[in-house]
Amino acid sequence: MAPLPDPDTLAAWDHAHVWHPFTQHDEWEADGPPLIIDRAEGCEIIDVEGKRYLDGVASLWTNVHGHRHPTIDSAVRKQLRRVAHSTMLGLAGTKNILLARELVTLTEAHLGPGLSRVFYSDSGSTSVEVALKLAFQSQQQRGHTNRTRFAALAEAYHGDTLGSVSVGGIDLFHGIYRPLLFDAVRLPSPERAEADEESDCLARIETLLAEHGPTLAAVVIEPLVQGAAGMRRHSPAFLRRVVALARAQGALVVADEVATGFGRTGTMFACEQADVRPDLLCLAKGLTGGYAPLAATLATEAIFDAFRGPASTHRTFFHGHTYTGNPLACAAALGSLTVFRDEAVLDGLPDKIAALSDAMAAVPDTHVSERRQCGLMAGLMVRHDQPTDARVAHRICLAARAHGVVVRPLGDLVVLMPPLAMSPDQLHALVDGVSCGIADVLGPA
Ligand code: PMP
Repeated sequence: MAPLPDPDTLAAWDHAHVWHPFTQHDEWEADGPPLIIDRAEGCEIIDVEGKRYLDGVASLWTNVHGHRHPTIDSAVRKQLRRVAHSTMLGLAGTKNILLARELVTLTEAHLGPGLSRVFYSDSGSTSVEVALKLAFQSQQQRGHTNRTRFAALAEAYHGDTLGSVSVGGIDLFHGIYRPLLFDAVRLPSPERAEADEESDCLARIETLLAEHGPTLAAVVIEPLVQGAAGMRRHSPAFLRRVVALARAQGALVVADEVATGFGRTGTMFACEQADVRPDLLCLAKGLTGGYAPLAATLATEAIFDAFRGPASTHRTFFHGHTYTGNPLACAAALGSLTVFRDEAVLDGLPDKIAALSDAMAAVPDTHVSERRQCGLMAGLMVRHDQPTDARVAHRICLAARAHGVVVRPLGDLVVLMPPLAMSPDQLHALVDGVSCGIADVLGPA
C-alpha cells in the first residue's frame, strides 16, 4: 500500500472532497484542520499524529466493548477467510442464520417470547423504515385497510430516510422535508421524567389515541430515552402506559432501540425495564459492537404470518438492501454477543453508571444547568447566556480535545455516551476533560 499522505495533505483533501454528515461546511472549514482518526485501541481513538483521545461518544453511540476487541477482531478475521459478502436474496448464509437465532434467544431472555423473526438491513434508519413498512403492510394484509397512519412522540428521532423522518419530530432536522413526508400523529412527550409532566402528557396521549386509534398502523417510540432530542427521559411507567394505550386501540408497537439497545440504559434493552415486549423491535448501532453497519428489525410471528400466501397474491415483503445481512457484519455481531456473555458485561454496568453519575455531579454548577443520565446515556446541559449562533457547546467539545477527550454536542447538551467498556477511572477522566473544555470556553467555575 502507498504510504499515508502527511496530515496537512489529508486535511486539505478532506476540505476539498469530503461531505460530512450533519455538518455545516462553512463552520467545518472555519474550525481549521479536522481531527483525523486513523486507528483506535480499547476506549481510545488515535489521530494521524498518534495522539490519543477517550472516545466519549462511542463513535456515534455504536461502540460497546472498546475498539480492537480481540474476540470481535478475531470473529471478523475468521469470516474474511470464508466470505466477505454473499447475498440473502435467494440464498441463506451461515452467519446470518446463527445471528438470527441468537437475537431471537436474546430478546426472549430479556423481553419474553414472541419476537421470532429477524429482518436485516444496514442502519438504524433502515431498521425503522422496515418496521414502518412491515407494520403498514401487515395491517393492510390482515384486512385493516383503514390503519394507514403512525403515531410518534414529539421530538422523536428515528433516522434520516424519508419514512423515519416522517415519524421524527425534530424541526431543525426534519422541518424542510415536511412537503415530502407522511403526516404522523404527534404525541406529547415529557421534557423530564417527572410525575406531573408525565401524567399531563399521558392524559393528552390517551385523548389523541382515542381519536386516531382506529386509523393507526402502529405507535413508534424510543423507549426510556429520546437520544437525539437531547437525552430526554421518561419513566418505565410512562412507557408501559403508552404501550398499553396503543394496544388498546389495536395499533402495533414499534420500539426503536437503535440507541438504547445492547446495554446502553443499564439493561440489555430499555423495554425490559418497563416489562414491555414490542411487536417490532429496531436494533442497529451497538448490534455489531460498533464494528460494522448492520441493523435488524425483529417481528412477531403474527406479523410474519400476514405476509404468507401464494406468490401470486403479492403478499411478499418487497424490500431488501444489497448488503443486507452482510457476513462480516454478522460475524462481528456474533462476536459482540459472545463478549456480552463471556465478560458478563451487564453485571459490570452498575459500578460504571454510578461512576459516570459521580463524575457528572462533581462538575461545578456554575456552567451546568442540568445533568441528564439513563445508564451510560448521558449529557451535561451547558448554562450560558450567549446566542445560539455562538455555538457554545460545539466550542466546548472542540476545546475538550486538548484535554484528551472526543465528545459531541446536541444543542446546548454535551453528550456523554462512552463505550460500555470504559472503566470508572476513564469515565472520570472523560468528564474531567469536558469540565476543562467548559472552563476554557466559559471561564473558571
Ligand atoms: N433511531 C434512533 C433512536 C437513533 O438514535 C438513530 C441514530 N442516532 C437512528 C434511529 C438512526 O440510525 P442511523 O444513523 O444508523 O441510520
